[in-house]
Formats: sequence, structure tokens, C-alpha cells
Amino acid sequence: MSSSTTTSSAVPVSGQPRSSTDRRGILFIISAPSGTGKTTLCKQLTTNLPGLWHSISYTTRTPRSGEEHGRDYYFIKERTFQEMIERNDFVEWAHVYGHLYGTPWKSLTEKIDQGVDVLLDIDVQGAMQVKKRFEDSVSIFILPPSMTVLKSRLQTRASDTPEEIQRRLQKVKEEVWSYREYAYIVRNEDLGRSLRDLESIFWSERLKTKRLNMTWLENNFILDDEQKTGDRKDLP
Ligand code: ADP
Ligand code: 5GP
Repeated sequence: MSSSTTTSSAVPVSGQPRSSTDRRGILFIISAPSGTGKTTLCKQLTTNLPGLWHSISYTTRTPRSGEEHGRDYYFIKERTFQEMIERNDFVEWAHVYGHLYGTPWKSLTEKIDQGVDVLLDIDVQGAMQVKKRFEDSVSIFILPPSMTVLKSRLQTRASDTPEEIQRRLQKVKEEVWSYREYAYIVRNEDLGRSLRDLESIFWSERLKTKRLNMTWLENNFILDDEQKTGDRKDLP
């Protein structure tokens, strides 16, 4: 399966999401130690921010109570996952806490081509692979306030066995050093504050000069009426 290797996009000065013809979407990658609050924050972000789509990963783990196939993940058998690897269906895939997780190419590239921003909620190994493939992506690392708080969040969520919680806490010590690989760090102490921080990152990225829609700029400030896009003979 083919895909572009950049998410370079043009955003109008207002920073508002536009029609599909205006620009390509931005790829946002969010990682965090398990239990930090990433899922909670990502759900809230996609509700609050227009023009942002949360990519749905494939996984071989079983659904937790309240999770739905096709909404939270595509829950599939290991054999199906292996077939998808062979067909090159994944942008990246990884073993995480004893299960397989993968990000599909198809929906991700479709959304980016349509000018929709994409949110990937993936682990550190996956994030490093995606960063290499999509150089213009924006990476964000979310941290809990402390190990004690993290442990209590995992226990409160009550979705994992004590052994599984222990496994996740062990991994934090390795994962936390990956913070250097990310463009932004958000400390998730107060949920409202973290959401505001994340929203600021998203809006700022949409306003970056490199993503500016040059056609809009040329049409409004540089070209005479007869030279505007569509009339120009020098364009291919
Ligand atoms: P992750 O996706 O990072 O594993 P979750 O979003 O499932 O984490 O959150 C783990 C638990 O912590 C959930 O019970 C959630 O309601 C709670 N939580 C998330 N963010 C906060 C916060 N800022 N303050 C207190 N509890 C939080
Ligand atoms: P959970 O089982 O708690 O939903 O997720 C466990 C970890 O797997 C989280 O860190 C989550 O971000 C990560 N994850 C979810 N989907 C993917 C994916 O498609 N690829 C990778 N590499 N990690 C993923």
C-alpha cells in the first residue's frame, strides 16, 4: 500500500479547518505511560476540536468493559493481524504489554488527503516509526504528575489485573526517557488544564507559517485579478 511520506499542509490564517481542496491534514502523535489519562484526553480533544479525527488501531487484546469494536479499536485475532502485516496494511505495528497493536495506512492517508487532521494515540515504539515516515508530524508526550498518582489512576480505572498493572508500571521507567523524542510535553495533573494545553498545541500548529495556504495568500495580496489561480497560464 502506498502513502505520502509527509503531512506538510497549508492552513489559512484563521487556523480553521478547511475544505478538502485547501490543504493536507496534520498528523498528531500522542504517547503516554499507561494510566496517565491519554484516552480520556484524546476523546475530549476530538469532541472539542473541529477537523480532528482519532485514528482507530487494530489490536489482538480483548475489549475492556464499555469498549466497542470499530469505535475504540478493531479487535482482531492474531492470525488476522499477521495477515495484515504481510499485506503491509500498517504504518507501524508493535508488541505492547503482550499484545499486538497497529495503525492502518488506509484511513490515515485518506483523512490526511481530505485535509482532516489525524490524532494517533500510540506507544513510544510506534511513535518513533511514524515520526520517521511522516517528518512533518507533531509529537506530544503526556506525563502523569508522579508514579504514585499513576498507580492510583491505574487502580481506579480497574480495567487491568494487579499483575497487568505491575507490568505497566514497570514499563514507565523505560518509557519516560523517551520524552526527548517528542516536540511537546504535557503534564496531566488537572484534566481541564491539560486539555487547554493540548488544544493550544493543536491550534498553534495549524497556524504555523509552513502550513500557510500560499494560494490564499497569492490570490489576496499578490496576484492581479486576471492572474489568479485558475486563470494562470504558467501553472501546470
Ligand atoms: P490511558 O489511556 O493513558 O491509559 P485513561 O484515559 O484510561 O489512561 O485514564 C486512566 C484513569 O485516570 C481513568 O480512570 C481516568 O478517568 C483517570 N484520569 C485521567 N486523567 C485524569 C486527571 N487529570 N486527574 C484524575 N484522574 C484522571
Ligand atoms: P491499551 O491496551 O491501554 O488501550 O493501550 C496500550 C498501549 O498501546 C497504549 O500506550 C496505546 O497508546 C498503545 N497503542 C494503541 N494503539 C496502538 C497502535 O496502533 N500502535 C502502537 N504502536 N501502539 C498502540
